[in-house]
Amino acid sequence: MKKILNLQCASCGKEHKTRDSDYLCNACGGTLEINYDYKLIKKRFDYDVLKENTAYNMWRYIDLLPIDSNEGVPPVQVGWTPLYNAETLADGLGISKLYIKDEGRNPTGSIKDRGSAVAVARALELDAEVITDASSGNASDSLACLTAGLKLRTVIFSPRNTPEAKLVQLYIYGAQVIRVDGNYDEAYELCKEATAKLNWYNRAAGFNPYSREGKKTCAFEICEQLQWEAPDKVIIAAGDGTIISGMWKGFKDFAKLGIIEKMPQIIAVQAQGSAAIKEAWERGGEAAKVRAATIAESISVDFPRDAFLALKALRESGGAAITVSDEEILQAIPELARGSSVFAEPGGAAVYAGLKKLVAEGAVKKDETVAIIVGGNGLKDIAAAEKSVHIPNTFVKPSWEEIVKLGMAQK
Ligand SMILES: [Zn+2]
Repeated sequence: MKKILNLQCASCGKEHKTRDSDYLCNACGGTLEINYDYKLIKKRFDYDVLKENTAYNMWRYIDLLPIDSNEGVPPVQVGWTPLYNAETLADGLGISKLYIKDEGRNPTGSIKDRGSAVAVARALELDAEVITDASSGNASDSLACLTAGLKLRTVIFSPRNTPEAKLVQLYIYGAQVIRVDGNYDEAYELCKEATAKLNWYNRAAGFNPYSREGKKTCAFEICEQLQWEAPDKVIIAAGDGTIISGMWKGFKDFAKLGIIEKMPQIIAVQAQGSAAIKEAWERGGEAAKVRAATIAESISVDFPRDAFLALKALRESGGAAITVSDEEILQAIPELARGSSVFAEPGGAAVYAGLKKLVAEGAVKKDETVAIIVGGNGLKDIAAAEKSVHIPNTFVKPSWEEIVKLGMAQK
């Protein structure tokens, strides 16, 4: 691939060729970043080319993705999700512009479809026979969806606490599921071991730099949907930190190509019970393992695999990291839905809870433009959402008199 210069270790700087490894640095075990030949890309990719492009999905940015083609990837629409101007919520919070990027509109209801799409395209280029992943649900669901019907076999390591809807999706799409009697981190390590011993292709977050690149397209879309401008602040939930590192790379790509001038600040929101990145941010060092426990399964992580690059993104962007409690997350689910019509899963609602906190602390200026990334649809974790509303277990008899008794017939 001429457009790729090399894969460079984010920790020690060692440069690797695309044929060396798709995973970690062979010198220090650090995570790899993909470097592009922007001069070459600039010759064929700019906003005039984009304006003519009628493919409204993530592949409209294929010139900035680390694959030659998306041939063979199922044609479901990944990307070009709506960016809503959330006026009611903005008015309520007293801020001028709030946008919601609704990633729940992707095929499996989460932003992870973007990363899986690139990983599947890469696995097909390499003629891999098996692709594998471990996740609390969203990433694995997206991989199962984007390999459905392909010769490429999919093996998923699913931790014990995977929410039911996410587990059902895996089986519906026909993935081979290994249910692990352990948490996400234990499933992740087992998946890595299988990858090494069986030579499978591994999509895992923070391990595979190709899947991280797919997340860039969410940043590209926001800039394009805002007429080639980045918001002042972008608020993103963090588990492993890959959405943050991926989206920051996307904003940097567009700046390098001269498509945007101003860069956004990136704010990470973590659950209080899974806050390794926030703790590292405050300490000023590297992330250390925690014992994660939060209702927001999609961001529940003991050791964040992409913390190094996520923390770098926070530093480079002049951003910050904050936490929200499970109570605040549960409260945010109906508030976000009632104010914007977007039903988010707990990890997605966490960003709105985080925004409320930032506004209360005076960390969002009145004239700033803010975008929040709702990473997953609320229907993917109904058990969690049910905790935020009261559903009475009482019924009325199917007669008009019962309605009158409820007082609804009074004018
Ligand atoms: Zn290295």
